[in-house]
Amino acid sequence: MTKVAVIGAGVMGLAAAYHLLKRGHDVDVFEADSRAGGMAAHFDLGGLSIERFYHFICKSDGETFALLKELDLGAAMRWRATSMGYFYQGRHYAWGDPFSLLKFPHLNLLSKIRYGLMVFLATKRTDWSRLDRLTAEQWLRGWCGEQAWNVLWEKLFTLKFFEYSGRVSAAWMWTRLKRIGTSRRNLFQEELGYIEGGSETLIDRLVARIITLGGRVHLSCATNEIHVENNTVIGVTAGGQYHPAGAAISTVPMPLVPRLIPGLPEAVKTAYAALENIGVVCVVHRLRQAVTSHFWLNINDEAIDIPGVVCFSNLRPTEDAHVVYVPYYMPVTHPKFSKSDDELIAESFGYLQRLNPALKNSDRVASHVGRLRHAQPICPPGFLETVPPVVSVVTGLQIADTSSYYPEDRGISESARLGREMAERVR
Ligand SMILES: Cc1cc2nc3c(=O)[nH]c(=O)nc-3n(C[C@H](O)[C@H](O)[C@H](O)COP(=O)(O)OP(=O)(O)OC[C@H]3O[C@@H](n4cnc5c(N)ncnc54)[C@H](O)[C@@H]3O)c2cc1C
Repeated sequence: MTKVAVIGAGVMGLAAAYHLLKRGHDVDVFEADSRAGGMAAHFDLGGLSIERFYHFICKSDGETFALLKELDLGAAMRWRATSMGYFYQGRHYAWGDPFSLLKFPHLNLLSKIRYGLMVFLATKRTDWSRLDRLTAEQWLRGWCGEQAWNVLWEKLFTLKFFEYSGRVSAAWMWTRLKRIGTSRRNLFQEELGYIEGGSETLIDRLVARIITLGGRVHLSCATNEIHVENNTVIGVTAGGQYHPAGAAISTVPMPLVPRLIPGLPEAVKTAYAALENIGVVCVVHRLRQAVTSHFWLNINDEAIDIPGVVCFSNLRPTEDAHVVYVPYYMPVTHPKFSKSDDELIAESFGYLQRLNPALKNSDRVASHVGRLRHAQPICPPGFLETVPPVVSVVTGLQIADTSSYYPEDRGISESARLGREMAERVR
Protein backbone atom coordinates (compact mmCIF):
# COMPACT_ATOMS: atom_id res chain seq x y z
CA MET A 1 0.00 0.00 0.00
CA THR A 2 1.33 3.45 -0.93
CA LYS A 3 0.25 6.74 0.58
CA VAL A 4 -0.77 8.83 -2.42
CA ALA A 5 -1.48 12.57 -2.67
CA VAL A 6 -3.82 13.51 -5.52
CA ILE A 7 -3.80 17.20 -6.43
CA GLY A 8 -7.10 18.46 -7.83
CA ALA A 9 -10.64 17.14 -7.30
CA GLY A 10 -11.82 17.47 -10.89
CA VAL A 11 -12.93 14.34 -12.73
CA MET A 12 -9.33 13.23 -13.34
CA GLY A 13 -8.23 13.56 -9.72
CA LEU A 14 -11.40 11.96 -8.35
CA ALA A 15 -11.25 9.06 -10.82
CA ALA A 16 -7.58 8.52 -9.94
CA ALA A 17 -8.39 8.56 -6.20
CA TYR A 18 -11.30 6.13 -6.60
CA HIS A 19 -9.24 3.61 -8.58
CA LEU A 20 -6.26 3.98 -6.20
CA LEU A 21 -8.49 3.17 -3.21
CA LYS A 22 -9.95 0.15 -4.99
CA ARG A 23 -6.38 -1.09 -5.41
CA GLY A 24 -5.75 -0.75 -1.68
CA HIS A 25 -3.77 2.51 -1.51
CA ASP A 26 -4.16 5.24 1.12
CA VAL A 27 -5.36 8.43 -0.61
CA ASP A 28 -5.66 12.14 0.15
CA VAL A 29 -7.19 14.45 -2.47
CA PHE A 30 -6.33 18.15 -2.15
CA GLU A 31 -8.59 20.66 -3.89
CA ALA A 32 -8.07 24.43 -3.94
CA ASP A 33 -11.76 25.21 -4.57
CA SER A 34 -14.50 24.98 -1.95
CA ARG A 35 -16.29 22.34 -4.11
CA ALA A 36 -15.22 19.22 -5.93
CA GLY A 37 -15.71 18.92 -9.70
CA GLY A 38 -13.27 21.38 -11.28
CA MET A 39 -14.54 22.32 -14.74
CA ALA A 40 -17.53 20.00 -14.23
CA ALA A 41 -18.61 21.56 -10.90
CA HIS A 42 -22.13 22.92 -10.37
CA PHE A 43 -23.41 26.17 -8.94
CA ASP A 44 -26.80 27.58 -8.01
CA LEU A 45 -28.50 29.56 -10.80
CA GLY A 46 -31.55 31.14 -9.20
CA GLY A 47 -32.47 27.92 -7.38
CA LEU A 48 -31.36 25.54 -10.15
CA SER A 49 -28.23 23.43 -9.65
CA ILE A 50 -26.36 23.50 -12.95
CA GLU A 51 -22.84 23.09 -14.37
CA ARG A 52 -20.62 26.19 -14.39
CA PHE A 53 -19.78 25.16 -17.96
CA TYR A 54 -22.18 23.30 -20.30
CA HIS A 55 -21.58 19.53 -20.49
CA PHE A 56 -22.91 16.99 -22.96
CA ILE A 57 -21.93 13.36 -23.47
CA CYS A 58 -21.23 11.66 -26.79
CA LYS A 59 -21.71 8.04 -27.81
CA SER A 60 -17.94 7.50 -27.96
CA ASP A 61 -17.46 8.46 -24.26
CA GLY A 62 -16.89 4.82 -23.24
CA GLU A 63 -14.98 5.56 -20.02
CA THR A 64 -17.85 7.70 -18.72
CA PHE A 65 -20.30 4.84 -19.25
CA ALA A 66 -17.96 2.34 -17.56
CA LEU A 67 -17.45 4.66 -14.58
CA LEU A 68 -21.17 5.38 -14.23
CA LYS A 69 -21.87 1.65 -14.26
CA GLU A 70 -19.24 0.94 -11.60
CA LEU A 71 -20.72 3.65 -9.41
CA ASP A 72 -24.23 2.17 -9.84
CA LEU A 73 -25.25 5.19 -11.90
CA GLY A 74 -25.73 3.42 -15.24
CA ALA A 75 -29.47 4.17 -15.11
CA ALA A 76 -28.77 7.93 -14.81
CA MET A 77 -27.62 8.20 -18.45
CA ARG A 78 -30.14 9.95 -20.69
CA TRP A 79 -30.08 10.42 -24.47
CA ARG A 80 -31.88 13.02 -26.49
CA ALA A 81 -32.27 13.89 -30.16
CA THR A 82 -30.60 17.29 -30.51
CA SER A 83 -30.10 19.68 -33.37
CA MET A 84 -27.81 22.41 -34.53
CA GLY A 85 -28.64 25.78 -36.02
CA TYR A 86 -26.65 28.43 -37.80
CA PHE A 87 -27.23 32.16 -37.35
CA TYR A 88 -25.57 33.63 -40.41
CA GLN A 89 -25.58 37.41 -41.04
CA GLY A 90 -28.85 38.04 -39.23
CA ARG A 91 -30.80 34.94 -40.31
CA HIS A 92 -31.41 31.51 -38.78
CA TYR A 93 -30.70 28.34 -40.77
CA ALA A 94 -30.95 24.66 -39.89
CA TRP A 95 -27.53 22.98 -39.75
CA GLY A 96 -25.81 19.68 -39.00
CA ASP A 97 -27.38 17.23 -41.48
CA PRO A 98 -27.16 16.68 -45.25
CA PHE A 99 -30.52 18.36 -46.06
CA SER A 100 -29.62 21.51 -44.11
CA LEU A 101 -26.27 21.68 -45.85
CA LEU A 102 -27.91 21.40 -49.28
CA LYS A 103 -30.43 24.14 -48.41
CA PHE A 104 -27.87 26.57 -46.93
CA PRO A 105 -27.77 29.47 -49.43
CA HIS A 106 -24.30 30.90 -48.67
CA LEU A 107 -22.19 28.09 -50.17
CA ASN A 108 -22.01 26.91 -53.77
CA LEU A 109 -22.70 23.25 -54.59
CA LEU A 110 -19.03 22.32 -54.89
CA SER A 111 -18.24 23.78 -51.45
CA LYS A 112 -21.16 21.87 -49.96
CA ILE A 113 -19.99 18.59 -51.48
CA ARG A 114 -16.43 19.15 -50.28
CA TYR A 115 -17.56 20.13 -46.78
CA GLY A 116 -19.99 17.20 -46.49
CA LEU A 117 -17.33 14.76 -47.67
CA MET A 118 -14.78 16.13 -45.23
CA VAL A 119 -17.15 15.71 -42.25
CA PHE A 120 -18.22 12.23 -43.37
CA LEU A 121 -14.65 10.98 -43.90
CA ALA A 122 -13.52 12.54 -40.59
CA THR A 123 -15.96 10.24 -38.78
CA LYS A 124 -14.46 7.19 -40.54
CA ARG A 125 -10.79 8.10 -40.14
CA THR A 126 -8.62 6.36 -37.53
CA ASP A 127 -5.03 7.33 -38.44
CA TRP A 128 -4.15 10.88 -37.37
CA SER A 129 -0.37 10.86 -37.87
CA ARG A 130 -0.56 13.07 -40.99
CA LEU A 131 -3.01 15.45 -39.32
CA ASP A 132 -0.55 15.99 -36.46
CA ARG A 133 1.72 17.77 -38.94
CA LEU A 134 -0.93 20.18 -40.29
CA THR A 135 -2.75 23.15 -38.83
CA ALA A 136 -6.54 22.92 -38.65
CA GLU A 137 -6.68 25.79 -41.13
CA GLN A 138 -4.48 23.98 -43.68
CA TRP A 139 -6.56 20.82 -43.32
CA LEU A 140 -9.99 22.48 -43.49
CA ARG A 141 -9.02 24.88 -46.28
CA GLY A 142 -7.51 22.01 -48.25
CA TRP A 143 -10.62 19.85 -47.94
CA CYS A 144 -13.44 22.37 -48.07
CA GLY A 145 -11.93 25.11 -50.24
CA GLU A 146 -11.67 28.85 -49.87
CA GLN A 147 -15.39 29.67 -49.82
CA ALA A 148 -16.32 27.18 -47.07
CA TRP A 149 -13.30 28.25 -45.01
CA ASN A 150 -14.36 31.92 -45.25
CA VAL A 151 -18.04 31.31 -44.53
CA LEU A 152 -17.89 28.50 -41.95
CA TRP A 153 -14.56 28.48 -40.19
CA GLU A 154 -12.50 31.65 -40.37
CA LYS A 155 -14.52 33.76 -37.94
CA LEU A 156 -15.07 30.81 -35.63
CA PHE A 157 -11.30 30.29 -35.27
CA THR A 158 -10.61 34.01 -34.86
CA LEU A 159 -13.26 34.42 -32.17
CA LYS A 160 -12.16 31.36 -30.22
CA PHE A 161 -8.39 31.30 -30.59
CA PHE A 162 -7.50 34.91 -31.49
CA GLU A 163 -3.70 35.11 -32.02
CA TYR A 164 -3.46 31.30 -31.72
CA SER A 165 -5.86 30.70 -34.66
CA GLY A 166 -3.15 29.62 -37.06
CA ARG A 167 -1.51 27.31 -34.53
CA VAL A 168 -4.26 24.80 -33.84
CA SER A 169 -3.46 21.21 -34.82
CA ALA A 170 -5.59 19.48 -37.45
CA ALA A 171 -5.44 16.27 -35.38
CA TRP A 172 -7.10 18.04 -32.43
CA MET A 173 -9.77 19.50 -34.73
CA TRP A 174 -10.40 16.11 -36.29
CA THR A 175 -11.11 14.40 -32.92
CA ARG A 176 -13.68 17.11 -32.12
CA LEU A 177 -15.45 16.62 -35.45
CA LYS A 178 -15.34 12.85 -35.07
CA ARG A 179 -16.64 12.78 -31.48
CA ILE A 180 -19.68 14.88 -32.35
CA GLY A 181 -20.10 13.51 -35.87
CA THR A 182 -20.43 9.93 -34.55
CA SER A 183 -22.92 10.81 -31.81
CA ARG A 184 -25.96 10.26 -33.99
CA ARG A 185 -29.00 8.02 -34.34
CA ASN A 186 -28.50 8.11 -38.06
CA LEU A 187 -27.09 10.39 -40.76
CA PHE A 188 -29.97 12.83 -40.27
CA GLN A 189 -30.31 12.88 -36.49
CA GLU A 190 -27.74 13.94 -33.88
CA GLU A 191 -28.13 12.35 -30.43
CA LEU A 192 -26.33 13.62 -27.33
CA GLY A 193 -26.38 12.47 -23.74
CA TYR A 194 -26.45 13.90 -20.24
CA ILE A 195 -26.44 12.56 -16.72
CA GLU A 196 -29.69 12.93 -14.81
CA GLY A 197 -29.04 15.78 -12.38
CA GLY A 198 -25.96 16.91 -14.35
CA SER A 199 -22.24 16.26 -13.82
CA GLU A 200 -22.83 16.80 -10.10
CA THR A 201 -24.44 13.35 -9.93
CA LEU A 202 -21.15 11.76 -11.02
CA ILE A 203 -18.95 14.06 -8.92
CA ASP A 204 -20.99 13.57 -5.73
CA ARG A 205 -21.01 9.80 -6.16
CA LEU A 206 -17.24 9.71 -6.77
CA VAL A 207 -16.61 11.76 -3.62
CA ALA A 208 -18.99 9.55 -1.61
CA ARG A 209 -17.26 6.35 -2.83
CA ILE A 210 -13.81 7.79 -2.08
CA ILE A 211 -14.90 8.49 1.49
CA THR A 212 -16.57 5.07 1.88
CA LEU A 213 -13.35 3.41 0.71
CA GLY A 214 -11.37 5.30 3.38
CA GLY A 215 -10.00 8.17 1.28
CA ARG A 216 -10.01 11.84 2.26
CA VAL A 217 -11.09 14.80 0.09
CA HIS A 218 -9.75 18.09 1.46
CA LEU A 219 -11.65 21.05 -0.03
CA SER A 220 -10.46 24.69 0.13
CA CYS A 221 -7.02 23.14 0.58
CA ALA A 222 -4.70 24.31 -2.20
CA THR A 223 -1.49 22.39 -2.61
CA ASN A 224 1.41 24.78 -2.15
CA GLU A 225 4.19 22.36 -3.07
CA ILE A 226 4.91 18.77 -4.04
CA HIS A 227 8.21 18.00 -2.29
CA VAL A 228 10.95 16.07 -4.07
CA GLU A 229 14.11 14.66 -2.46
CA ASN A 230 16.72 12.54 -4.23
CA ASN A 231 14.50 12.68 -7.31
CA THR A 232 11.65 10.97 -5.41
CA VAL A 233 8.30 12.30 -4.11
CA ILE A 234 8.34 12.58 -0.32
CA GLY A 235 5.19 14.58 0.43
CA VAL A 236 3.06 17.64 -0.23
CA THR A 237 2.28 20.85 1.57
CA ALA A 238 -1.40 21.65 1.23
CA GLY A 239 -3.37 24.30 3.07
CA GLY A 240 -0.07 25.18 4.78
CA GLN A 241 0.29 21.69 6.30
CA TYR A 242 2.84 19.02 5.39
CA HIS A 243 1.54 15.56 4.40
CA PRO A 244 4.11 12.79 3.77
CA ALA A 245 3.40 10.74 0.60
CA GLY A 246 5.09 7.96 -1.33
CA ALA A 247 3.50 9.00 -4.63
CA ALA A 248 1.73 12.04 -6.05
CA ILE A 249 -0.63 12.61 -8.96
CA SER A 250 -1.02 16.20 -10.13
CA THR A 251 -4.08 17.06 -12.24
CA VAL A 252 -3.80 20.87 -12.05
CA PRO A 253 -3.28 22.83 -15.32
CA MET A 254 0.28 22.03 -16.38
CA PRO A 255 1.47 25.65 -16.78
CA LEU A 256 1.13 25.80 -12.96
CA VAL A 257 3.51 22.86 -12.44
CA PRO A 258 6.84 24.77 -12.27
CA ARG A 259 5.56 26.75 -9.26
CA LEU A 260 3.98 23.69 -7.65
CA ILE A 261 7.03 21.44 -7.99
CA PRO A 262 10.19 23.57 -7.68
CA GLY A 263 12.22 20.34 -7.26
CA LEU A 264 11.77 19.38 -10.94
CA PRO A 265 14.82 19.79 -13.19
CA GLU A 266 14.98 23.25 -14.83
CA ALA A 267 14.61 21.92 -18.41
CA VAL A 268 11.46 20.03 -17.41
CA LYS A 269 9.98 23.11 -15.73
CA THR A 270 10.66 25.11 -18.91
CA ALA A 271 8.69 22.55 -20.94
CA TYR A 272 5.66 22.94 -18.62
CA ALA A 273 5.93 26.73 -18.62
CA ALA A 274 5.88 26.76 -22.44
CA LEU A 275 2.39 25.17 -22.60
CA GLU A 276 -0.28 27.67 -23.58
CA ASN A 277 -3.97 27.88 -22.81
CA ILE A 278 -6.84 30.18 -23.56
CA GLY A 279 -9.34 31.13 -20.89
CA VAL A 280 -13.11 31.28 -20.94
CA VAL A 281 -15.64 33.67 -19.52
CA CYS A 282 -18.88 31.74 -19.59
CA VAL A 283 -22.08 33.68 -19.03
CA VAL A 284 -25.10 31.54 -18.11
CA HIS A 285 -28.59 32.97 -18.38
CA ARG A 286 -31.75 31.51 -16.91
CA LEU A 287 -34.63 32.69 -19.10
CA ARG A 288 -38.41 32.49 -19.18
CA GLN A 289 -38.45 31.67 -22.89
CA ALA A 290 -36.18 29.79 -25.28
CA VAL A 291 -33.68 31.43 -27.62
CA THR A 292 -34.02 28.66 -30.24
CA SER A 293 -35.12 25.03 -30.41
CA HIS A 294 -31.52 23.94 -31.17
CA PHE A 295 -28.95 22.75 -28.64
CA TRP A 296 -26.06 24.40 -30.49
CA LEU A 297 -26.33 27.60 -32.39
CA ASN A 298 -23.28 28.46 -34.48
CA ILE A 299 -22.98 32.16 -35.15
CA ASN A 300 -21.35 34.22 -37.88
CA ASP A 301 -22.81 37.69 -37.52
CA GLU A 302 -21.36 41.19 -37.65
CA ALA A 303 -23.10 42.28 -34.46
CA ILE A 304 -22.10 39.25 -32.35
CA ASP A 305 -18.53 38.69 -31.18
CA ILE A 306 -18.80 35.02 -30.19
CA PRO A 307 -18.91 31.95 -32.43
CA GLY A 308 -21.91 30.24 -30.82
CA VAL A 309 -24.24 29.69 -27.88
CA VAL A 310 -25.43 26.52 -26.17
CA CYS A 311 -29.16 26.31 -25.41
CA PHE A 312 -28.72 23.72 -22.72
CA SER A 313 -32.34 23.05 -21.81
CA ASN A 314 -32.82 21.61 -25.31
CA LEU A 315 -30.59 18.76 -24.11
CA ARG A 316 -31.24 18.44 -20.38
CA PRO A 317 -34.72 19.58 -19.26
CA THR A 318 -34.23 22.18 -16.51
CA GLU A 319 -37.59 22.50 -14.74
CA ASP A 320 -39.46 25.48 -16.21
CA ALA A 321 -36.26 27.37 -17.02
CA HIS A 322 -34.44 27.89 -20.31
CA VAL A 323 -30.72 27.81 -19.59
CA VAL A 324 -28.39 29.31 -22.19
CA TYR A 325 -24.59 29.36 -22.01
CA VAL A 326 -22.74 32.15 -23.79
CA PRO A 327 -19.04 31.19 -23.79
CA TYR A 328 -16.40 33.80 -24.59
CA TYR A 329 -13.17 31.91 -25.18
CA MET A 330 -10.12 34.18 -25.32
CA PRO A 331 -6.54 34.57 -24.19
CA VAL A 332 -6.62 35.87 -20.60
CA THR A 333 -4.63 38.90 -21.79
CA HIS A 334 -7.63 40.02 -23.87
CA PRO A 335 -9.25 43.14 -22.30
CA LYS A 336 -12.65 41.43 -22.34
CA PHE A 337 -11.45 38.78 -19.89
CA SER A 338 -11.31 41.48 -17.20
CA LYS A 339 -14.63 43.16 -18.03
CA SER A 340 -17.07 43.33 -15.14
CA ASP A 341 -19.75 40.67 -14.70
CA ASP A 342 -22.47 43.29 -15.29
CA GLU A 343 -20.97 44.39 -18.61
CA LEU A 344 -20.65 40.79 -19.82
CA ILE A 345 -24.17 39.89 -18.72
CA ALA A 346 -25.59 42.93 -20.53
CA GLU A 347 -23.58 42.28 -23.71
CA SER A 348 -24.37 38.57 -23.88
CA PHE A 349 -28.07 39.10 -23.18
CA GLY A 350 -28.06 41.67 -26.01
CA TYR A 351 -26.70 38.93 -28.28
CA LEU A 352 -29.51 36.60 -27.22
CA GLN A 353 -32.06 39.32 -28.02
CA ARG A 354 -30.54 39.67 -31.49
CA LEU A 355 -30.89 35.90 -31.92
CA ASN A 356 -34.49 36.01 -30.67
CA PRO A 357 -35.97 39.54 -30.88
CA ALA A 358 -39.04 38.36 -28.92
CA LEU A 359 -36.87 37.98 -25.82
CA LYS A 360 -37.73 40.76 -23.36
CA ASN A 361 -35.58 42.08 -20.53
CA SER A 362 -38.16 40.68 -18.12
CA ASP A 363 -37.48 37.17 -19.51
CA ARG A 364 -34.07 37.12 -17.81
CA VAL A 365 -34.52 35.49 -14.40
CA ALA A 366 -30.90 35.03 -13.31
CA SER A 367 -27.40 35.23 -14.78
CA HIS A 368 -23.97 34.10 -13.71
CA VAL A 369 -20.43 34.68 -15.00
CA GLY A 370 -17.86 31.87 -14.63
CA ARG A 371 -14.20 32.55 -15.42
CA LEU A 372 -11.48 30.00 -16.01
CA ARG A 373 -7.90 30.94 -16.90
CA HIS A 374 -6.88 27.48 -18.21
CA ALA A 375 -9.97 26.46 -20.17
CA GLN A 376 -8.57 25.10 -23.42
CA PRO A 377 -5.00 24.01 -24.07
CA ILE A 378 -3.49 25.25 -27.33
CA CYS A 379 -2.26 22.16 -29.17
CA PRO A 380 -0.20 23.16 -32.23
CA PRO A 381 0.95 20.64 -34.88
CA GLY A 382 3.51 18.24 -33.44
CA PHE A 383 2.11 18.74 -29.94
CA LEU A 384 2.64 15.09 -29.05
CA GLU A 385 6.41 15.64 -29.19
CA THR A 386 6.32 18.70 -26.91
CA VAL A 387 3.77 17.77 -24.26
CA PRO A 388 5.64 16.42 -21.19
CA PRO A 389 4.94 12.73 -20.49
CA VAL A 390 2.49 11.76 -17.72
CA VAL A 391 5.12 9.68 -15.92
CA SER A 392 7.57 12.37 -14.83
CA VAL A 393 11.33 12.09 -14.34
CA VAL A 394 10.71 12.09 -10.56
CA THR A 395 10.05 8.67 -9.02
CA GLY A 396 6.46 8.39 -7.78
CA LEU A 397 5.27 11.53 -9.57
CA GLN A 398 2.68 11.60 -12.37
CA ILE A 399 1.54 14.88 -13.90
CA ALA A 400 -1.32 15.40 -16.34
CA ASP A 401 -4.00 17.82 -17.43
CA THR A 402 -6.50 17.83 -20.27
CA SER A 403 -3.73 18.34 -22.87
CA SER A 404 -2.14 15.01 -21.86
CA TYR A 405 -4.71 13.10 -23.91
CA TYR A 406 -4.02 15.00 -27.12
CA PRO A 407 -5.29 14.71 -29.82
CA GLU A 408 -8.54 14.18 -27.92
CA ASP A 409 -10.13 17.44 -26.79
CA ARG A 410 -10.78 18.02 -23.08
CA GLY A 411 -13.67 15.91 -21.89
CA ILE A 412 -15.01 14.11 -18.84
CA SER A 413 -14.51 10.69 -20.40
CA GLU A 414 -10.85 11.26 -21.30
CA SER A 415 -10.05 12.81 -17.91
CA ALA A 416 -11.67 9.82 -16.18
CA ARG A 417 -9.68 7.41 -18.38
CA LEU A 418 -6.38 9.11 -17.68
CA GLY A 419 -7.15 9.26 -13.94
CA ARG A 420 -7.72 5.49 -13.95
CA GLU A 421 -4.56 4.82 -15.95
CA MET A 422 -2.47 6.89 -13.55
CA ALA A 423 -3.95 5.00 -10.58
CA GLU A 424 -3.09 1.68 -12.23
CA ARG A 425 0.60 2.70 -12.47
CA VAL A 426 1.05 3.31 -8.73
CA ARG A 427 2.79 0.39 -7.04
C1 LIG B 1 -16.55 25.66 -21.20
C2 LIG B 1 -16.31 24.18 -21.08
C3 LIG B 1 -17.19 23.27 -21.67
C4 LIG B 1 -16.95 21.91 -21.57
N1 LIG B 1 -17.85 21.05 -22.15
C5 LIG B 1 -17.66 19.72 -22.02
C6 LIG B 1 -18.62 18.82 -22.54
O1 LIG B 1 -19.63 19.21 -23.11
N2 LIG B 1 -18.39 17.47 -22.39
C7 LIG B 1 -17.28 17.01 -21.75
O2 LIG B 1 -17.12 15.78 -21.62
N3 LIG B 1 -16.36 17.84 -21.26
C8 LIG B 1 -16.52 19.19 -21.38
N4 LIG B 1 -15.59 20.05 -20.86
C9 LIG B 1 -14.33 19.51 -20.37
C10 LIG B 1 -14.44 18.84 -19.01
O3 LIG B 1 -15.09 19.68 -18.10
C11 LIG B 1 -13.00 18.58 -18.56
O4 LIG B 1 -12.31 17.80 -19.51
C12 LIG B 1 -12.91 17.84 -17.25
O5 LIG B 1 -13.87 18.27 -16.31
C13 LIG B 1 -11.50 18.09 -16.73
O6 LIG B 1 -11.31 17.46 -15.50
P1 LIG B 1 -9.87 17.47 -14.88
O7 LIG B 1 -9.98 16.85 -13.56
O8 LIG B 1 -8.93 16.88 -15.87
O9 LIG B 1 -9.46 19.01 -14.75
P2 LIG B 1 -10.13 20.14 -13.85
O10 LIG B 1 -11.59 19.99 -13.83
O11 LIG B 1 -9.53 21.43 -14.32
O12 LIG B 1 -9.57 19.82 -12.39
C14 LIG B 1 -8.38 20.32 -11.88
C15 LIG B 1 -8.63 20.71 -10.43
O13 LIG B 1 -7.42 21.15 -9.83
C16 LIG B 1 -7.72 22.16 -8.93
N5 LIG B 1 -6.50 22.87 -8.58
C17 LIG B 1 -5.80 23.78 -9.31
N6 LIG B 1 -4.70 24.19 -8.65
C18 LIG B 1 -4.69 23.50 -7.48
C19 LIG B 1 -3.80 23.47 -6.35
N7 LIG B 1 -2.69 24.19 -6.31
N8 LIG B 1 -4.12 22.65 -5.31
C20 LIG B 1 -5.23 21.89 -5.34
N9 LIG B 1 -6.10 21.89 -6.36
C21 LIG B 1 -5.83 22.68 -7.42
C22 LIG B 1 -8.76 22.97 -9.66
O14 LIG B 1 -9.50 23.80 -8.76
C23 LIG B 1 -9.61 21.88 -10.29
O15 LIG B 1 -10.68 21.50 -9.47
C24 LIG B 1 -15.82 21.42 -20.90
C25 LIG B 1 -14.95 22.32 -20.28
C26 LIG B 1 -15.17 23.69 -20.37
C27 LIG B 1 -14.22 24.65 -19.72
